[in-house]
Amino acid sequence: MRTTIERRDLGPRDVLIEIRYAGICHSDIHTVRGDWGSVPYPLTVGHEIVGRITEVGAEVTRHAVGDRAGVGCMVNSCRECENCRSGSEQYCLKGNTQTYASVDRDGTVTQGGYSTHVVVDEDFVLRVPESIPYEAAAPMLCAGITTYSPLAHWNAGPGKKVAVVGLGGLGHMAVKIAAAMGAEVTVLSQTLAKKDDGLRFGAEHYYATKDPATFEALKNSFDLIINTVSAPIDMASYLGLLRRDGTLVSVGAPAEPLPVPVFALFGNRRSFAGSSIGSIAETQEMLDFCAERGIAPEVEVIGAEAVNDAYERVLASDVRYRFVIDIDTLR
Ligand SMILES: [Zn+2]
Ligand SMILES: [Zn+2]
Repeated sequence: MRTTIERRDLGPRDVLIEIRYAGICHSDIHTVRGDWGSVPYPLTVGHEIVGRITEVGAEVTRHAVGDRAGVGCMVNSCRECENCRSGSEQYCLKGNTQTYASVDRDGTVTQGGYSTHVVVDEDFVLRVPESIPYEAAAPMLCAGITTYSPLAHWNAGPGKKVAVVGLGGLGHMAVKIAAAMGAEVTVLSQTLAKKDDGLRFGAEHYYATKDPATFEALKNSFDLIINTVSAPIDMASYLGLLRRDGTLVSVGAPAEPLPVPVFALFGNRRSFAGSSIGSIAETQEMLDFCAERGIAPEVEVIGAEAVNDAYERVLASDVRYRFVIDIDTLR
C-alpha cells in the first residue's frame, strides 16, 4: 500500500539519498508478516538500498552530492561498546540500529528502502563503485555482505573446500564470492534444477540434498559450509560433511531452534557457528572486491506494484535470484 513517511531533517553528519533501487530480502517478508515478533506498523521495509546522494550535512566528509551510495541492514550503532570500537558495529552490544523497524536515536521508528528518499548518518553509507550495475548493487548490501563476511572470516580461499547450502538470493552470492576468493565450491541444493546456474556462478560441484547418497559421498569433505536456508535442516547429516576443524555457519534464519547433536561436533572437532551481516568497513571491502572481479547478483527488476506478487514468488523459491524494486515506479 502506498503511503507517505517522514524522514528526519538532515543533521550535520547526515546524507540525503534519492533511492533508485531496493532489493527484496526474505527478512522483509518475515518482518512484515510478524514471523519474528510484533511489528511497529505502519512500517516500510527494505534494507538493500542504492541511490544517488542529493544533499549532505555541513560536517559530512566521506560523501559528496552526486555520489552513488548504498545503505544496508543497519543505519547506526552506539559507537562506544567494545564491539563498536573494534570495528564490528554489526555486533553492537546495545544493538545496532536496524534500517527498518528499529528505534532511532531520535525515538522514531526507522523506515526502510521501499521509498523514494532516506536520510542516513554518513558513517553508515557505502560507496557503490560505478562498475557495478545500479540495480544489481542493491542485493549486495544484505545478501552480498551476509555471505562475504563468514567466507572472509573463515578464510575461504585457494585450497579450501566450501559448500553452499541453498541456491537462492544469499546462496548464489555465496557461490560467486567463494569462487572469486579461490575456494573449491560445491552447491548443496534440494534438487538439481538450478545446476547449470550454479556451475555458471562458479561452483565446481553440485549435489541434490534430496538424494541420501549425497551425504555418503561427501562425508568429511568440507572446510566450511555456509547454510543459507531459513528452514530447519538435519544438523547431524550436514555436520557430517565437515572435515577436521571444519565449520558450518548458518546465515539463514529459521524461526525455530535447530537441534544440534553434540556427538556430530566431537568427530573431526567440528564447529557450528552463526554470522550476522558485516561491518560497514567490511561491506565497503565486499563492494570493492566484487567490483574488481566483475561479480554482481542476478536480479529481476520489478515495479512497486508487483511487490506482493514478488513476495509470493520469493516464498515459493521462484526467483532467479533476487527481486529489485525500481523505485522510479514510486515517484
Ligand atoms: Zn536482508
Ligand atoms: Zn556498540
